[in-house]
Amino acid sequence: MQPKDLEERLRMKLSLTKVVNGCRLGKIKNLGKTGDCTMDIPGCLLYTKTGSAPHLTHHTLHKIHGVPAMAQLTLSSLAEHHEVLAEYKEGVGKFIGMPESLLYCSLHDPVSPCPAGYVTNKVLQKSMIIGVIEGGDVMEERLRSARETAKRPVGGFLLDGFQGTPTTLETRLHLLSSVTAELPEHKPRLICGVSQPDEVLECIERGVDLFESFFPYQATERGCALTFSFDYQPIPEETLLQQNGTQEEVNYVDQTKKSKTTSCNQEMTSFEINLKEKKYQEDFDPLVRGCRCYCCKNHTRAYLHHLLVTNELLAGVLLMMHNFEHYFGFFQAIREALKSDRLAQLKELIHRQAS
Ligand SMILES: [Zn+2]
Repeated sequence: MQPKDLEERLRMKLSLTKVVNGCRLGKIKNLGKTGDCTMDIPGCLLYTKTGSAPHLTHHTLHKIHGVPAMAQLTLSSLAEHHEVLAEYKEGVGKFIGMPESLLYCSLHDPVSPCPAGYVTNKVLQKSMIIGVIEGGDVMEERLRSARETAKRPVGGFLLDGFQGTPTTLETRLHLLSSVTAELPEHKPRLICGVSQPDEVLECIERGVDLFESFFPYQATERGCALTFSFDYQPIPEETLLQQNGTQEEVNYVDQTKKSKTTSCNQEMTSFEINLKEKKYQEDFDPLVRGCRCYCCKNHTRAYLHHLLVTNELLAGVLLMMHNFEHYFGFFQAIREALKSDRLAQLKELIHRQAS
């Protein structure tokens, strides 16, 4: 293939509308087969498990507001379907019930971690290549990887190995800002393994554009509902409600410390409540007051508690619907806060809720 042809194929464009203290607001354009799809940044990908949104059918997925245009698949799930797909001939998007989604194929599933450095560049036929930045915790190696990858005709960058390393958070964030400073401005940067709200905001401040959305899935798997507030500009008449909410959140933090669960190999965070707890047995509030998701509009915490303790599969469906919608709403709030120069307020609110 001629370099010019390759360049033509990599026609995805990132247009930045605003950059404030390193945080980038913009749109990725010319996506998809026809080039008419767009994606807002900062944003996240739709997490999928073996090729589909966990617990959800095509129909229930479409009940969720703000579903990202791009879904994340893993190479192993594609490989599993390889023979069937060859037979089917109409493409993986249609096969998994997401014909209109853009697909991003990663080599591994963020919920089943593998050692950093496992990801290597792979060329998938007719696909855009995302360059992977490696180098572990060694600054020199990270910078070399960033500079060398930036020279290649890649469509964007994947920042790998910034999760779960033994280094301190401060060191990781310093590494991250040094790496993004080496990358060209007009190509998107995706980070893998970082999905918790407070960490997402730290990464956005260091020039990261895209995230995976496995955090709402992990919360769902441990029977929890995301309840953290991202309403950084409450209207006066709702202030009282918000204050009550904050008091509740403080209690949740206490609970979290007492009853950390290890299901899904992840500990419960202060951004969620555990609906299996007995105190929700007679709690007739929605998961989050004011939430417009299908679950909150139709069901109560008590009902979800009942579904969870009786191991009904519907619990996973309803929790996933709420948790995805809540999480996608958080990204919407980030973009709005950036637009109106109020990211500091949002960050303050999120950090107050982080334990
Ligand atoms: Zn909801």
